[in-house]
Amino acid sequence: MRLHDSTLVPTPTDIANHLACRHLTQLDRARLAGERIELRQDPRIDALRHRGETHEKGFVDSLAAEGLSVTDLRHHDDPAATLDAMTAGADVIVQAPLQGDGLSGRADVLLRIAVPSRLGAYSYEPADTKLARDTRAGTILQLCAYAALLDPMQGLLPEHIHVVTPLARERYRTAHFDAYFRFVRRRLEDDLAADPPPATYPEPVPHCDVCPYWLHCNRRRRADDHLSLVAGIRKLNVRELERQGIRTVVKLALTGGALPAEPHRGARETYAHLAQP
Ligand code: SF4
Repeated sequence: MRLHDSTLVPTPTDIANHLACRHLTQLDRARLAGERIELRQDPRIDALRHRGETHEKGFVDSLAAEGLSVTDLRHHDDPAATLDAMTAGADVIVQAPLQGDGLSGRADVLLRIAVPSRLGAYSYEPADTKLARDTRAGTILQLCAYAALLDPMQGLLPEHIHVVTPLARERYRTAHFDAYFRFVRRRLEDDLAADPPPATYPEPVPHCDVCPYWLHCNRRRRADDHLSLVAGIRKLNVRELERQGIRTVVKLALTGGALPAEPHRGARETYAHLAQP
């Protein structure tokens, strides 16, 4: 995300992050506004990033070994360099800067395909290299964003988007995810434009494992004695307890497991179990 003429311009990664955690979007926004937020330094995340780069390099090397021409734009920030490479007809464009229509980002790989476009007898489709065996929704949304950015450059929305895992090369139809992409993008843009910002809370989500804000969010949960700190608790249990006016671990413990009212969600025994020290 970056600030351009006092407008926040999200990247495709911001869209994926927003899907993973709305609070993350607000922390990004606060940082851009100058708030100091301590970021996590985690060698495991650095190692994961390194493995990701190695995987991308392996994929690009395999394309070059097939005899395809590769244009690497990692040292360029101007989207004009991507358009130049597209116009020149490179087979593969790596780390391509893209920008337009309120979005900017850098696509891992653009693949030339034999579908005519404004460029000539060919066009490009975006590919993302990912280590995860199961493709996440955020990855698909990221690729939809790159496809949307390519659309005006070649006068054609790429029909397919590609995910390259260590085990397989997966192909998805862009149109199947377009409505969902536009929905999440709109929600992100609304959240970024909202004044005051929407009230979000750092409730734990799977993305916390790799999120740079983990230290900050964990401190906040501990300071609030938030119910998410209870071992084994689920989001629906937290919602039910909040509905009954129980918002902290201490308050839950003080109930001794006996809720004030019949739970709408979950069994009484579950709450009795969760209240045990
Ligand atoms: S650490 Fe977790 S809760 Fe906090 S911003 Fe990141 S994903 Fe969201």
